Amino acid sequence: MNDHCLKKCSAAESQWHEECGVVGVWAPGEAVVNLCYLALFALQHRGQESAGIAVTNGMHIDVEKGMGLMRDAFKTRVPTLAGHCAIGHVRYSTCGASLVNNVQPIFAYFSGGFISLAHNGSLTNARLIRSQLEKQGCIFQTTTDSEAILNLIARSGAPTIEEKIEASLKQVEGAYCLTIMTGDKLIGARDPHGFRPLCLGQTASGGFVLASETCGLDAVKAKFVRDVAPGEMVVIDKDGVRSKIIDTRPNLSKCVFEYIYFARPDSVFDGLSVWQARYQMGRQLAKQFTGEADIVTPVPDTGITAALGFSAESGLPYVEGLIKNRYVGRTFILPDQANRESTVDMKLNPIRANLEGKRVVLVDDSLVRGTTSVRLVSLIKSAGAKEVHMCISSPPITHPCYYGIDTAVKKELIAAVQSVEEIRRFLGADGLMYLSKEGLMEAVNDAANQCMCTACFTGQYPTSIDDVENSSKG
Ligand code: SF4
Repeated sequence: MNDHCLKKCSAAESQWHEECGVVGVWAPGEAVVNLCYLALFALQHRGQESAGIAVTNGMHIDVEKGMGLMRDAFKTRVPTLAGHCAIGHVRYSTCGASLVNNVQPIFAYFSGGFISLAHNGSLTNARLIRSQLEKQGCIFQTTTDSEAILNLIARSGAPTIEEKIEASLKQVEGAYCLTIMTGDKLIGARDPHGFRPLCLGQTASGGFVLASETCGLDAVKAKFVRDVAPGEMVVIDKDGVRSKIIDTRPNLSKCVFEYIYFARPDSVFDGLSVWQARYQMGRQLAKQFTGEADIVTPVPDTGITAALGFSAESGLPYVEGLIKNRYVGRTFILPDQANRESTVDMKLNPIRANLEGKRVVLVDDSLVRGTTSVRLVSLIKSAGAKEVHMCISSPPITHPCYYGIDTAVKKELIAAVQSVEEIRRFLGADGLMYLSKEGLMEAVNDAANQCMCTACFTGQYPTSIDDVENSSKG
């Protein structure tokens, strides 16, 4: 779900963010809204700016959407329709109420009845498709590329909803995981590159659940059935589950950043545990480390698992050096540089007793602009640490992402414009080391790098990005 305004607004932040999480529930006779809510709540980390749920009983559709975390978005109301099918969406952005129109699931009435759609990812030819649709007289109510998919489906002349969706998805490029609901069907689809994850589970009563991550299935005690395959469309209705591979274009490109940072560590994608992958990244990082240190400490929470792996491999003790204030959430983000520094101070506080006089390996998952890391190094030194060696469990980020991650423009990515030594000096650290790309690929069981997207480290994009590049210039 792409939104150019959102990208401009979020450029002030120092961390990359996943833009969405999606859920679909088909469970006649069960409390589908409750199941959808719980599964979506487990995906809150994938989007905190807004949330929505749409439910149907076949004749009517009830949609509730709102801004903020789920507890705020559904503060006054959750959908009350007793239905057999629901879809849900959580979304990330930093812009406020003016974008309430963009909150998903989106829905519309068309010749086939009603249709509702939730989208995780970004299309790389959205501008082109949208302008073609506008020339044909289409009007849009949102600025998202997800609405372009909805319009393609509604305007398709194919006879069935499955064929309409198939024909539409063949026209789009880029990243999408979709949950789509009509009066009598729940449909899940994953783009042929497999950028974003989507899995299928089954409830104890025989219902089906689609979710961006397996932690969404766990939240409703649904048994994991399988991942939705790249290029696959899964159709769930009264006759059960049917599957069709609708796009067999090669070039499998699963987002490696899902393993590095975005996904919850208790999730499993395509057979690989996110926690295990992060732990192995820490081990690989320790193999590269040639400095001398006394302790390993993580940047909480994102560096914890890699720091554990680093400690296991290096033999250095794992010690908590920073404590996170759990009540300072994303809403605490403030606009200017001075305020951003106080945000770090409010979020994290050093433990002097563990750091004083120590040579510290500080493990974090990634370095985007470096502004947060400067503050972290300074905090640890202010607590008496003798040395701080910053170790990053991913390679330098040198290129923006166009596949559903809210990223900085290239010139704001510190590794795109400075050498490692320049960044070390900027951070005020005694050492700076990044995980090598080879080490990363080992950690995610893809040593030959045959199935992962690594474009933000290499600039080798698996799809054409002409349309998005022109769009960001425009
Ligand atoms: S460019 Fe980076 S963040 Fe984007 S999909 Fe590829 S690996 Fe993931």
